[in-house]
Amino acid sequence: MLNPTQITSVPLLNVQRQTAAIRPSLDAAISRVLDHGMFINGPEVREFEDSLARYCGVQHAIACASGSDAILLPLMALGVSPGDRVITVPFTFFATGGCIARLGAEPVFVDIDPATFNMDPVALARHLESLSAADLRSIKAILPVHLFGQCAPMDPINEVAARYGIPVIEDAAQAIGAEYKGHRSGSMGWCGAFSFFPSKNLGGLGDGGLITTNDAGLAAKLRILREHGSEARYYHRVVGMNSRLDTLQAATLLAKFAHLEAWTASRRAHAATYLSELRGAKLPQESPDCFHVYNQFTIRADDRDELKGRLDAAGVASAIYYPVPLHLQDCFAGLGYKPGDMPHSEAAAKSVLSIPVEASLTDAEVAFVVERVNAATAG
Ligand SMILES: *Cc1c(COP(=O)(O)O)cnc(C)c1O
Repeated sequence: MLNPTQITSVPLLNVQRQTAAIRPSLDAAISRVLDHGMFINGPEVREFEDSLARYCGVQHAIACASGSDAILLPLMALGVSPGDRVITVPFTFFATGGCIARLGAEPVFVDIDPATFNMDPVALARHLESLSAADLRSIKAILPVHLFGQCAPMDPINEVAARYGIPVIEDAAQAIGAEYKGHRSGSMGWCGAFSFFPSKNLGGLGDGGLITTNDAGLAAKLRILREHGSEARYYHRVVGMNSRLDTLQAATLLAKFAHLEAWTASRRAHAATYLSELRGAKLPQESPDCFHVYNQFTIRADDRDELKGRLDAAGVASAIYYPVPLHLQDCFAGLGYKPGDMPHSEAAAKSVLSIPVEASLTDAEVAFVVERVNAATAG
């Protein structure tokens, strides 16, 4: 193992190293699929769905082509269409808001809690209280995000949603295995959306997604919607889309899923080291209700852009997730938001910086990051 003095740089994500560590199991999974030849809806797809349903503590899991589709499909199942609105947060990956807009509906933003970067249930309640009866009827779903691997406060969010009879869709793309009060992400709302994009905690060899739910009716609808709306082949009662998880992806994800718990433990161990040893940086907060899975370890700094420059020079990769909150994106200019409308999201976008925390980092690399971040934030 390298000692910190031999390391010259640490990347944010080292996909080749992750692959190398489990290469024989991936090769074997791929070979099995090549042998049976059922590239679409092969047996590994159902096996993966069943494994994920058990893991998340739900009755049904429906695999699809991406995390974005895992948000889009439940919105389609609800019949979300032009004139409808869906409430979400502006401080998230674009897909959260983009899926709403793709259906011709309007994303409505409520601000985050600056301590956790997640939806503020008080802001949610205030927004709903401010609406007329007609406007309330246009709200078809609430879409909180479990950002960076920490669950949004689901009890108060569900409570507010239940008061108005609005379904909650968890955007759990970054939070597989994360818990809130002992419940896994994806098991607390009406349904949950997961992504297997390579940078997620369970990353595939390409795109992939999955929806979890305890609603059998929704599960059945989603299975139809992901196959062009056909239940019996070539007969279509509804218009769906082509959004399946490839058998190859399911097979390799199953091989990787065997390591998820160990990878989560590594991420949490790296985060624990940062939380105890980083001295100059403003550190992320783990809510006492939450089991954080650290898809990102995100610090904050007033001089964020300069800090990023110092870290680049020192060999520590970092990234800004996310530089522009959704309510200020050009494509959403028509919604009429302006700077100042979502102060906590805007402040986060100006100050956040994510540093390496992925599972395959060695202790020496984590020590290197600690030393360099402390040097870059000193004084
Ligand atoms: C990654 C991600 C998505 C979308 O997932 P894809 O698989 O890339 O389509 C949605 N929401 C959040 C918060 C994400 O991080």
